[in-house]
Amino acid sequence: MNQFLKNIYQFVKKNPGILFSLVLIILIPLTLYFNSFLAAKSFQKSIDKIFQIKALTIENILAAFLLEKMEDPQQIQEKIALISKENQQLENIRVFKHQDDNSFIILASSNPQEIGFKSNEPALVLAFSQEQTMATLKTNKNGQRSWNVIKPLFNLQKEKTGLLSIELSLKEPDEILAKTLLGSYFIMIGAIVLSLILILHHTRLFEYVALSKKLIEIDKMKDDFIRMATHELQSPIANIRGYLEALQEEIKNFLSSEQKEMFWRISISAKNLADLIEDILEVSRIEQGRLDLTPQILNPKEIIAQVIAELQPKAKEKGLILEKEFSNDSYFINVNPRRLHQILFNLINNAIKYTKKGQIKVTTEIEKTKKRYLISVKDTGIGMSAEAQKHLFERFYRIKTRETADIPGTGLGLWISKQLTEKMGGQIFVESLEGVGSKFTLVFPLIEKV
Ligand code: ADP
Repeated sequence: MNQFLKNIYQFVKKNPGILFSLVLIILIPLTLYFNSFLAAKSFQKSIDKIFQIKALTIENILAAFLLEKMEDPQQIQEKIALISKENQQLENIRVFKHQDDNSFIILASSNPQEIGFKSNEPALVLAFSQEQTMATLKTNKNGQRSWNVIKPLFNLQKEKTGLLSIELSLKEPDEILAKTLLGSYFIMIGAIVLSLILILHHTRLFEYVALSKKLIEIDKMKDDFIRMATHELQSPIANIRGYLEALQEEIKNFLSSEQKEMFWRISISAKNLADLIEDILEVSRIEQGRLDLTPQILNPKEIIAQVIAELQPKAKEKGLILEKEFSNDSYFINVNPRRLHQILFNLINNAIKYTKKGQIKVTTEIEKTKKRYLISVKDTGIGMSAEAQKHLFERFYRIKTRETADIPGTGLGLWISKQLTEKMGGQIFVESLEGVGSKFTLVFPLIEKV
């Protein structure tokens, strides 16, 4: 519980805006409730007034009747019973006769058991002596309110003979008001509880937002770390490769064939490591959007020819034919030349790596109707299964077969190629048959130079 409160405190400290919402959420229903409370109170005042008038009217009617009937209690009693029956809100009607000792005896009453009882209540004495009608709002011990109206009675000779007292209950309007107020009270509590639940829910949402912000930060820190670490690894690896080459050159005449094989393996490993570092750096550049992809309208044939020229020695070394077959056209594509070079280098380099004999052909093709420029790299290499093709463009994916076991690589080249192609508005596809060969195709939107 303590921890829960602490968490809430920390949260409010971090998001002070929430206090404002909290105040609003409590204040609005509270204001609405007080508004209905005030309306109910003013409504009650009017009702009181109406009931007072009603009590006075009944009393005047009865007093007029009593003017001549004071000596006939039987008739008075019947009249009272009749009026009581018609007015359910009338709680009590009493007719008092004045006695010489200045007390009052009950002559008739809506409660017949009272008849004959004496009373010298101060209110009765006061009304009688002042010769004035007195209306008092009374509240009994159950909290029920009623109007008590006392009126002095006169006979035809204008002599004071007694008093008429009636009690008109306000129970009914009070109950309606109480129900209305209770209703708004529950609505207010409901609104506050609902809003608090919403706030709690949003608090969690805010926490998620904070959490995802943190995750983004951590992710950025991770990326920065990878970038820094790989960058720092680059120069020691370059040193190792440089010194290894120099050392090999100096002692090559004294090495046995086994030692030469060892040297060769060390330098291959060092090259793989350098390639891996370069690829990881490239992945982090792509992910952080730190790549310059500024496009340029160009004819890809020049770049293809350049990459072929660069990789021709490697193909020759393996006894492979590396050739180009260009379509006769003058169309262009809008890409970054350096990145296109990088993609083509990777595809042609792979074709050489994964082909034992035969040829690698780079072709260009125009699909005028679809407005597409196609560049394909086709080899007669080891090919790959349909299952392997599904994962081919995933990060670090390498096909593990006996044939690929000795071929160095990072499993990042195709992922990088796909990312770069797509970021430049193109697509990359593969078609392949195991033992027959593979064909990688780059597709870019066609641009016609005017
Ligand atoms: P690597 O550095 O391993 O070559 P890539 O991402 O370039 O990484 O390629 C992923 C995997 O796809 C390779 O390990 C290889 O198994 C397979 N591959 C790529 N190009 C070819 C190809 N032309 N012929 C057969 N397999 C290929």
